[in-house]
Amino acid sequence: VSLEDEAPYACPACFERNYVGIDPSAGRRQRFIEDCPVCCRPIEFTIEIVDGDPRITRAELAG
Ligand SMILES: [Zn+2]
Repeated sequence: VSLEDEAPYACPACFERNYVGIDPSAGRRQRFIEDCPVCCRPIEFTIEIVDGDPRITRAELAG
């Protein structure tokens, strides 16, 4: 069993739907950058943990 949760998102660059791994123990509000596995552009995620469930509030191109 992994501590990581996954949340779905649509890439802001190529619009492909993917999942990003989120560690709920890292805080109620998180912001991090991860490359899109499809187009390799860096995406900045803003995450909020609501009742233990990670929700992506923003996913936009970084830089
Ligand atoms: Zn992409």
